[in-house]
Amino acid sequence: MATRLEALGGASDVLPADTARWQAVEQTARQVLARYGFQEVRTPILEYAEVFLQSLGETTEVVQKQMYRFQDRGGREIVLRPEGTASAVRCYLEHGLDKTGGLVKWYYLGPMFRAERPQAGRRRQFHQLGVEVFGAASPYQDAEVLALLMHLLSALGLKQAALKINNLGCRNDRPRLIEQLRRSFTGRAAELCEECRARLTTNPLRILDCKRERCRTIAHGSVGSSDWLCEDCRRHVEAATAALTTLKVSYEPDPLLVRGLDYYSRTAFEVAHPGLGAQDALGGGGRYDDLVQQMGGSSPVPAVGFALGLERVLMALDAEQVAPAPVPAPSVFVAALGDAAQRKGMELLQRLREAGLTAAGEYEGRSFKRQMEQASKLGCPYVALLGDDEVANQTVTIRDMRQRAQAPVAWAQCVEELRRLTAGTGKDA
Ligand code: AMP
Repeated sequence: MATRLEALGGASDVLPADTARWQAVEQTARQVLARYGFQEVRTPILEYAEVFLQSLGETTEVVQKQMYRFQDRGGREIVLRPEGTASAVRCYLEHGLDKTGGLVKWYYLGPMFRAERPQAGRRRQFHQLGVEVFGAASPYQDAEVLALLMHLLSALGLKQAALKINNLGCRNDRPRLIEQLRRSFTGRAAELCEECRARLTTNPLRILDCKRERCRTIAHGSVGSSDWLCEDCRRHVEAATAALTTLKVSYEPDPLLVRGLDYYSRTAFEVAHPGLGAQDALGGGGRYDDLVQQMGGSSPVPAVGFALGLERVLMALDAEQVAPAPVPAPSVFVAALGDAAQRKGMELLQRLREAGLTAAGEYEGRSFKRQMEQASKLGCPYVALLGDDEVANQTVTIRDMRQRAQAPVAWAQCVEELRRLTAGTGKDA
C-alpha cells in the first residue's frame, strides 16, 4: 500500500472555503495600497543564498537557523526566500533603479519560508504582504508608511492592532548602544538565559528580543538612557512620531523593540494584536538606510518598509470575529435532464459565461429535484430548466428561486433575459 501523502508540517493547504477570505484580504490590501501610490513587484521565491547572507546579518535567527538552504545540481547555494526586503533590494539594484533616482514605492505579496518548529502563528511556509519605499529620507515618509499600515489593518476590519515604535539610531550610534548594553548586562550575565549569555558576545542587541521574563526585566533596566543616540537620529524619529500624531495614528514607544533582522536603523516598529497569543506580532518594519549600499549599491539609498504576516492577519480577524465576506453565489444554475437537454444545457452554460454571468450546472443525470437542491445549496437566484419539452419547443424554463415562480422563454432570447434578470442582483459585471 502506498504511504499516506500529507503536507509538510507548518505548510498548510488553503481549501476553497478559505481562499475566498484570503482573496478578500488581498483585494482590500491592493485597493488601499493603490491609494497610497504603491505598485506591485514580483520577485522569485528562489534566490542565491548571498542575497540574504549579505543583508540579514550573520547572527540573526533567520540566517543561523531558519533558512531553507540547499545546493542545486549546479552546486549553487540557493535559498527559499525567508523574507521580502532583501529580494526587493536585490531586484531594485539589479534593474538599476538606484541610478534613476526618485521615489520607488513597491509592494509584494507572496509565500516566505522559514525552517521553524511549527506552532500557532508560526509556519514554515507563510505569506507576507510587504511594502518598501526607496529613495525616501524624510521622517514624514516613515509616518506615511505607518499610517498606511494602520489604515490597511482597519480597512481589513481590525480594531485592536497596537503599534509600537522604537528608535534604533544609525550605524554610528550602534557601537555606543552595544557598549551600553554590554556594560549593563555584564554584571548580570549569570541571570540571563544561556542563549542571551552567548548573545552578550555575538550581538547584545538580540538580548532585547528575548521573550523570557527574566531577560526582559534585565533588558528593561539596561535601555534606560538614550545617551548613545545621535542628534539627527533623535530628531528624525521625533519628527516621524509627531507626524503620526497629526495623522491621528496612535502608538506606544517601546525601548525593547529591536526587530529580528539587523538592517534596521532609526525608526523600527511592530504591530501587535491581543488575539494572537504568544506570537503576537502581526507585522513590523522600519527604516533601512544602509541596506542598499550594503548589498552593492554605489551610493546610499534611504528606505523604509514593513511586512505583515497574512496568516496572522486572518487569525486576528477570527479573534475579533470579523465575519468573512460571503462567497458570491452563481447567478444561474442550469438544470438539464436527458441527453439532448444536457447538450443544450452545456451550450447555455457556455453562452451565459461568455456573456459575463457566473453560471453553474452539472452533467451527472441527477433528477431535477436533486439539481434544484444543488441550486439552492449554492444560493443561485435563478435556475434555467431544460427537459425534453424545452428541447422540443426551443425554449428554456426560467425559475425565480426567491419568488418560486417560473415561465418559459424562447431559446433565442434566454441569455438576454437571464442577463436582464440577474443585472439587479449585482453579482455579475
Ligand atoms: P519578520 O519578517 O520576521 O519581521 O516578520 C514579519 C511578520 O511576518 C511577522 O510579524 C509575522 O506576522 C509574519 N511571520 C514571520 N515569520 C512567520 C512564521 N514563521 N509564520 C507565520 N508568520 C510569520
